[in-house]
Amino acid sequence: MKVTIIYDNETWQPGLEAAWGFSCLVEANGQRLLFDTGGRGDILLQNLETLNLAPRSISEIFISHGHWDHLGGLADLLRLHRDARVYLPWSCSRPPEAREVISVQGPLEISEIFFSTGELPGAEQSLVVKTVDGLVVICGCSHPGVGTILEAASSLGKVKALIGGLHGFKEYEVLADLALVCPCHCTQHQAEIMTRYPETAVSGGVGKVLEFG
Ligand SMILES: [Zn+2]
Ligand SMILES: [Zn+2]
Repeated sequence: MKVTIIYDNETWQPGLEAAWGFSCLVEANGQRLLFDTGGRGDILLQNLETLNLAPRSISEIFISHGHWDHLGGLADLLRLHRDARVYLPWSCSRPPEAREVISVQGPLEISEIFFSTGELPGAEQSLVVKTVDGLVVICGCSHPGVGTILEAASSLGKVKALIGGLHGFKEYEVLADLALVCPCHCTQHQAEIMTRYPETAVSGGVGKVLEFG
């Protein structure tokens, strides 16, 4: 299972563009799912191209929540791939460009490896990916709170990794059992997390690739 960061506030690899927002591509078992779409379609598409990822190869798009920095690139992506299926939180308004929208309210099994926590308080859903030795959780801005997200995900098994924007999160002890945490995008206390968990915390950035068993 592989996660490639496509859109983030910082870059990891030269030649890619950083901007406020988040998106990553999750590839596992021959399945590809794009988590969020960043703030600007032109930057999203440019970064995909630089990373040699064809938009037409992405048939499933998971939107964590309705904020512009996660949803902003969706229309441009859908213009190139009208038939992509969009998983949208229930309270989020439907993008007119989308042909197929799955409105997610409660926990949802997307495939045998991809799951949604369902829309949590804060109008946001997180993606849960099953791997052989635990769950990888991907979050947009963590508006529901990191503790709430991890608790919701843990109904599917043991969480081993967390990737995404953690916003103003400060209850650092809830990360203690994770094998990996990649706090990026809007995470305000990135430095504290890195200092507290030097062995498990890694930085994000556009072009960063995280691989799991
Ligand atoms: Zn947000
Ligand atoms: Zn955000």
